[in-house]
Amino acid sequence: MKKMKPFDFMEEFDHEQIVYFYDKTTGLKGITAIHNTDLGPALGGTRLWNYETEEEALLDVIRLSRGMTYKAAVSGLNLGGGKTVLIGDPSKVKSEGYFRGLGRFVESLNGRYITAEDVNTSTGDMGYVAMETNHVVGLNGKSGNPSPITALGALYAIRASLKEKFGTSSLEGKTFSVQGAGQTGYYLIKYLLGENEEKDKAKKIYFTEINETYIERMKKEHPDVVFVKPEEIYSLDVDVFCPCALGGIINNDTIPQLKCSIVAGTANNTLKEEKHGDALKKKNILYAPDFVANSGGLINVYHELKGYNKEAAIADVKKIYDRLLEIFKISKEKDISVNIAAINFAEERIKQMKNIKPSYLNTKKN
Ligand code: NAD
Repeated sequence: MKKMKPFDFMEEFDHEQIVYFYDKTTGLKGITAIHNTDLGPALGGTRLWNYETEEEALLDVIRLSRGMTYKAAVSGLNLGGGKTVLIGDPSKVKSEGYFRGLGRFVESLNGRYITAEDVNTSTGDMGYVAMETNHVVGLNGKSGNPSPITALGALYAIRASLKEKFGTSSLEGKTFSVQGAGQTGYYLIKYLLGENEEKDKAKKIYFTEINETYIERMKKEHPDVVFVKPEEIYSLDVDVFCPCALGGIINNDTIPQLKCSIVAGTANNTLKEEKHGDALKKKNILYAPDFVANSGGLINVYHELKGYNKEAAIADVKKIYDRLLEIFKISKEKDISVNIAAINFAEERIKQMKNIKPSYLNTKKN
């Protein structure tokens, strides 16, 4: 494979800015990628991961930040897309100084980038970031942990997909497999078990995990949810497969194994490559694009920027249902994969807002 350098990636993915930062005292080592700020400041969480190579970290931040641009645009938010990755072992590097150091780098971007928690970073960690900058959301006492609301958004994506595929949005009689019972997968399973407004319940749920603590938690709290080994999750004969772990899991190896009718979950970058969206379409598997299905967390933190109101945030998250039905319609009308239809939808909004007549207004709305 050709070795890609930062400017190669920026050109290919159309990025505005990439910032590398390092602090010798705490070992803080990270990359912030700002993909696009046409609609507003770039917002995206900080992911801490023990990347094997710098190139792997760069590719991750590049893909994730572009996904944030699409996610914000498709959700009707006045935000651009960005992301930060920190390179390090989550069990070793974390400290107050580490996250306050991160806060200073975020502050140095002067509001072009707003951060939040992500994989291996918490609301508590963001509390340290907030000591150094106001450009951080998802804080304790404000919108807090985004995972339950991200999972709620995924539930509405699942409902829209069920409606599209089976003519009803109800969970009754339907079977599910969930990959990952961590922060979001755990809540999604609870909702599927009937802890939701409609009180409808899945017929059967399977789950897989690699973290023993989470496996035990599920077995103890919900013994009816059946554990399967990680490699067995793809070939289960279920209605809906819910990826709630890591990205790239819909690929050349897994697609031939799938027997589900729908793929919808909370994970980011679910498709390994865009062509895998076409492959799902060919197999008549309906895909709820990840950046639409998991936009609940972003919609929730966006409300924090406006002064947080939980009811208003939840009402906006539920709009994922109608948005997805509209995207499914575009996909059918244009005979394109749902993923491409969602990207077109997002790009069209960015283009429109960028090009509307810049008439003078004496107030500036957020
Ligand atoms: P998490 O780390 O709490 O949960 C993921 C779980 O998946 C972990 O418990 C992990 O052990 C498990 N896992 C990893 N590889 C696995 C495998 N091969 N088989 C089975 N289980 C495996 O993370 P999360 O916050 O639930 O996020 C999950 C996904 O959702 C990520 O892709 C994240 O980027 C995305 N997402 C999360 C949020 C949020 O609000 N937390 C918002 C948007 C998107």
